[in-house]
Amino acid sequence: MIIDDLHYDVIVIGSGAAGGTLAGQLARSGKRVLVLERGGAMPLADQNVADVDLFRKDRYHPGEQWFGTDGDPFSPQTIYALGGNTKIWGGVLERMREREFDGVQHQGGKAPSWELGYADLAPFYDRAEQLYRVHGEAGADPCAPPRSADYPFQPKPIEPFMQELRLALVRQGTHPYLLPQSWSDSSLDPSGDAELFGVDPARQSANVTVRERTRVRRLHVNPTGTEVRGVEAEIDGIVWLFSAHVVVLAAGAINSAEILLRSATEHHSRGLANGSDQVGRNLMKPQLTSIIQLATDANSGRYPRSLGITDYYWGDQNVSFPLGSIASGGGVLQDALFAESPPVLSLVTKLMPNFGLEQLAARSVAWWATSAVLPDPHNRVTLRGNHLQIHYLPNNREAHDRLVYRWIDTLKQVEADPDCHVVKAAPTHPRGEAPLTVMGSVCGTCRMGTNPATSVVDLNGRSHELSNLYIADASVFPSCPAIGMGLTVIANALRIGDRVLEAL
Ligand SMILES: Cc1cc2nc3c(=O)[nH]c(=O)nc-3n(C[C@H](O)[C@H](O)[C@H](O)COP(=O)(O)OP(=O)(O)OC[C@H]3O[C@@H](n4cnc5c(N)ncnc54)[C@H](O)[C@@H]3O)c2cc1C
Repeated sequence: MIIDDLHYDVIVIGSGAAGGTLAGQLARSGKRVLVLERGGAMPLADQNVADVDLFRKDRYHPGEQWFGTDGDPFSPQTIYALGGNTKIWGGVLERMREREFDGVQHQGGKAPSWELGYADLAPFYDRAEQLYRVHGEAGADPCAPPRSADYPFQPKPIEPFMQELRLALVRQGTHPYLLPQSWSDSSLDPSGDAELFGVDPARQSANVTVRERTRVRRLHVNPTGTEVRGVEAEIDGIVWLFSAHVVVLAAGAINSAEILLRSATEHHSRGLANGSDQVGRNLMKPQLTSIIQLATDANSGRYPRSLGITDYYWGDQNVSFPLGSIASGGGVLQDALFAESPPVLSLVTKLMPNFGLEQLAARSVAWWATSAVLPDPHNRVTLRGNHLQIHYLPNNREAHDRLVYRWIDTLKQVEADPDCHVVKAAPTHPRGEAPLTVMGSVCGTCRMGTNPATSVVDLNGRSHELSNLYIADASVFPSCPAIGMGLTVIANALRIGDRVLEAL
């Protein structure tokens, strides 16, 4: 083992939405910071998802095997790289709704309160939108929470055929809005991400060290188990030990839980920070279904996500529980999530039997329906020898089904609209649900709360048991929104970053 003889103020484990953002924030404070990131820089060809063959199945799978609910091994889709899953995300950055922080009654049960209000996070949402250069139109989303100012940048124009669809959707009584998105200034890699807005600026600072291809294995504690004393990592097959005043876990909801579980000792047989037995439990994956509509004319198949619809977020006619959100999926050939649901395109081939993949994609308009799931202690990450075991059964299913059918009805009405010429009626609307393998958008495995018996970290992200251990990533979410969780991860990481700086 090599022991690094430098002692840092803060070690950040992971450089994705939370870790990358935190690295940039801590760098500005002048503290000595070490970032340990399992992956390396992603090649530009892979980052620019507009120009790659997403349907090459191993492209965004890190090549490890986890065990699934049925006990069989599977290859997860998640990114280990500088910037984490933000390297291939859609970059749609939306705020959670006020009510979601208070705890919402869903058809499948009650989601817990965050014990924080929207007002506590609002200033950090403002900072997050500035940092990630979010382009959006304030006031257009009918159920968005209040904001103190407009978005930092106006939305980019959308494809003309999407604009015509938007008008047709308005005629059906819905309120489509332009999705707020993070954009860079680069034409080579236009979407913003945590490497660009977090890791890169951090690296400019002499007090920050970023170690790539460094996989953290476990944390070591003092004999009483009240403080983290060392971070054990593997670099090129060699074991290293690093130390710091404060350690922040930001390895994502699966891997942060894994590191704590792997850190079990004689005194902490269930893993570190796990007196409550909640580490790894309450895993949540939003319910995601892609729905395909047939376009009248060919499009490029490569354009960003454009429209959001939240008219059914809190319910529908005669339905008084939340259903979720709808978003246009962007060009099918640049949607990494869509590529994980190949049955959908094979269904489209039945409608257009003589078309190849490119032609099918260009004739498709993709939509995503997203619904919340509820935390369930049985949905969890555990260790099976050297591998991860994921036990996961989605819940709140009926609400999601209602959303999908409601949206298909709306699409049919649009197709029957004589003034809408950009889509055409089809005997069916092929659809497919994101499978278990899609693991890049998960939360909840180390929930935060005031009660140490039912949560892993307190409301400041600090472990109830280890005074210098914080968790800043999506693991700490007590519930799962029905919109992308990226902006909330970023805002919450900035909030926790402020607490870490105060503690130093
Ligand atoms: C295809 C796709 C599209 C998406 N689109 C959107 C979108 O449009 N809007 C939105 O809001 N969200 C979107 N998401 C979800 C969003 O990317 C995630 O919610 C967000 O990145 C989670 O942030 P995180 O910090 O918890 O984890 P991550 O961003 O996954 O970061 C975790 C980091 O930890 C590193 N790591 C893991 N294990 C270790 C270890 N042992 N040692 C050291 N480092 C480690 C990883 O390499 C990674 O860099 C999308 C996700 C995917 C996969």
